[in-house]
Amino acid sequence: MTSVAVVGIGAVGSMALWRLAARGIPATGFDAYAPGHDRGAAGGESRIFRTAYKEGPQYVPLLREARDLWGELERAAGRRLLTPVGGVTVGPREHAKLAAVLAAARAHDLPVEVLTGAEAARRVPEHPLREGEVMIADPDAGYLRPEPAVVAAAAAAEQAGARILRYTPVTRVRQDEGGVTVTTADGEHRFTHAVLAPGPWARTLLPDAPIVAKAITSTWFPRREESLFDPGSCPIAIRVGEPAYSCFPSVDGIGVKVNLHVPWQEIDSPDALARSAPAAYVRQVAEAVAATLPGLRPDPVRVATYADAFTPDGHGLLGRQGRTVVAAAFSGHGFKLAPVFGDIVADLVETGATARGIGHLAPDRPLRRSS
Ligand SMILES: Cc1cc2nc3c(=O)[nH]c(=O)nc-3n(C[C@H](O)[C@H](O)[C@H](O)COP(=O)(O)OP(=O)(O)OC[C@H]3O[C@@H](n4cnc5c(N)ncnc54)[C@H](O)[C@@H]3O)c2cc1C
Repeated sequence: MTSVAVVGIGAVGSMALWRLAARGIPATGFDAYAPGHDRGAAGGESRIFRTAYKEGPQYVPLLREARDLWGELERAAGRRLLTPVGGVTVGPREHAKLAAVLAAARAHDLPVEVLTGAEAARRVPEHPLREGEVMIADPDAGYLRPEPAVVAAAAAAEQAGARILRYTPVTRVRQDEGGVTVTTADGEHRFTHAVLAPGPWARTLLPDAPIVAKAITSTWFPRREESLFDPGSCPIAIRVGEPAYSCFPSVDGIGVKVNLHVPWQEIDSPDALARSAPAAYVRQVAEAVAATLPGLRPDPVRVATYADAFTPDGHGLLGRQGRTVVAAAFSGHGFKLAPVFGDIVADLVETGATARGIGHLAPDRPLRRSS
């Protein structure tokens, strides 16, 4: 009889455990901490959900499924996890990333709108356009709550019969013809299959994979007026060009989160991550805010650094290798897709294959280490 170890109960592992348990497949989760912790890739209050995907139109069917599964998880949890405030991408009219948003929308007939001038200013006063800039509005966007989402998926998994071994780091996963052995400080555990979802700690369990961990810093700025960046109505925003960042509404009422898009620093392990950021970096974000977000005071009230795992091409690794499913390195954009990735993991465990289009995520595709 099938029995599955899911190693890593973060964003993707918690969803995999939930989807396996929902299908009645016996599953045990292992996490070095506990579901909902903020030491890995799933901390920091909010994550963007969007559908007109500049990272490639092949993601759009997955995003549609992910949105439905977010709804299913919300119903199971009895709380909101995805707030559908819409989203905008802002930048120079001819920018390649704006063209990529429009290409994904065209390929899947998504209802995006291109806004300029007074109409953009009326609809989204928080993000004024500069000379030569346009705004693409994606109504099927919003923001997710990462820590509650992982807690909800883990609870739904446990409710459906899964077990979670908390504060139990896994040191080794070894497969043989008959099954999989998972080693922890308590000894060895046998299963028929294993799912590896270690996020930015991937080096321990996937030492040969072309994965690096990087640190991403979030910075929160106070609003000048309470009516701006309202968490119930202000769209999430991505600004491309110079400066480039993502920006959220004021989710907690204290600050508006801005993640500057700069080349992120590679780190050895999230365990050694400096949670703050150098003053020079904070000054750089403050200057970007002063230049483009007049509704914010450009002195941050909160700075926090998190980590994610990256591949050289920016697409994650999702596929089956023998008795093991690899679900790793979602490269700074995996949270929104976590529920559908979790369901695909369940397909791969159950039948060895999936009908979903994940060729671009094949773990054995040619990839070279970026460093
Ligand atoms: C600051 C920041 C902003 C982001 N913004 C967005 C966004 O707006 N939208 C979006 O879609 N995505 C975003 N992402 C990316 C997204 O959050 C990640 O891709 C996603 O969370 C990755 O999930 P994961 O399950 O791979 O990793 P994690 O969520 O980190 O989970 C990994 C888990 O594995 C456990 N673990 C690891 N090794 C072991 C071991 N050996 N034994 C036991 N347990 C182990 C860890 O404790 C952890 O709980 C962002 C990422 C960051 C860092």
